Amino acid sequence: MSWSQRVQEALEQRRKMGQYRQRTVCQQANGRSLRIAGTNYLNFSANDYLGLSDDPRIINAWQQGAARYGVGAGGSAHVTGFRTPQAELEQRLAAWLGYPRALLFISGFAANQAVITALAGKDDRILADKLSHASLLEAASHSPATLRRFTHNQPQALAARLAGPCNGETLVVTEGIFSMDGDSAPLAALHQLAQQHNAWLLVDDAHGIGVRGEQGRGSCWQQDVKPDLQIITFGKAFGVSGAALLCSEDTAEFMLQFARHLVYSTAMPPAQVCALQEALNCVQQGDDLRQRLRQNIARFRTGAAGLRWQIMNSDSAIQPLRVGDEQAAVDLAARLRQQGCWVTAIRPPTVPPGTARLRITLSAAHLPEDIERLLEVLNATDGG
Ligand SMILES: *Cc1c(COP(=O)(O)O)cnc(C)c1O
Repeated sequence: MSWSQRVQEALEQRRKMGQYRQRTVCQQANGRSLRIAGTNYLNFSANDYLGLSDDPRIINAWQQGAARYGVGAGGSAHVTGFRTPQAELEQRLAAWLGYPRALLFISGFAANQAVITALAGKDDRILADKLSHASLLEAASHSPATLRRFTHNQPQALAARLAGPCNGETLVVTEGIFSMDGDSAPLAALHQLAQQHNAWLLVDDAHGIGVRGEQGRGSCWQQDVKPDLQIITFGKAFGVSGAALLCSEDTAEFMLQFARHLVYSTAMPPAQVCALQEALNCVQQGDDLRQRLRQNIARFRTGAAGLRWQIMNSDSAIQPLRVGDEQAAVDLAARLRQQGCWVTAIRPPTVPPGTARLRITLSAAHLPEDIERLLEVLNATDGG
């Protein structure tokens, strides 16, 4: 089979399975609303949990940063790309979260790939929560280590895995808040088990950082757990993009030697780092934003409790509405869009078969009447 035949066949297969993915051009979008093909919608699909993606303070910091440092880093951090703003932000992040070191990555996907591939060797094993993000599971399955998944949020299931034999080292992988279910991991129990077996724990807190814990320090801080490795990302509550690894002094030095995403890739533009500095200020001073988000979550959950579709066990900004059938989820999303609410249907293989859902995300940027509008439309659609 030729390359082009293979490509065609794969596309056909995708179409047949109803899993064909397409992008939509957004003319304008922020945490509250978006504009597509000339129509405005309320946005219930963004990860902009604090509404910072168009915050004037952060925009200004990016502009000032570009004026001062230019638009690009000019090289990897090992050459000349490691600039003053980056060094400062790494120190601030480490101090903020109580770790010796922080290392910046260009994205959460790159950070997860880099950390797992740099660490995991042939005799090692990675024990990951079944619902871990694709960037974690993919890195683990491509690494020479053995990947075993454990039942979602079940410390006993992890304990059973840990009891099995392993010649090398063990890395336990989970998330602070799960991206498709919105629920939180029992981090203390997982960390305790990991420690009992001399395993390291990696927590990816993409959806918890900025939102949870004192000053938005995230799920680990909130649960008083300090995992050996913590990944935070800046594309969600921070409203920008990028990621950081929080770790020990030696682990940071190890990553600087062996994490190929750091060595062979252009560093984050210093102007973007300036924007992240300001986003961090906004997050640290963002108690009012976090309170508004909490109120929106409570308002939604109260209103949605009587719907035909089941809300899930989540007190986070991610409020999935479980529909089950794939086509029904797609149809429901389409009807909501007709009524001005932009919501995304999530289907297998992103979630397990039979659990298609609407992934509704809430933001501090939503006004109370936005949530009421969504509930009103859901109620009107509930009849059939
Ligand atoms: C979004 C997300 C990532 C990827 O982060 P990017 O910065 O968008 O690449 C990684 N892990 C989790 C859990 C995520 O939700």
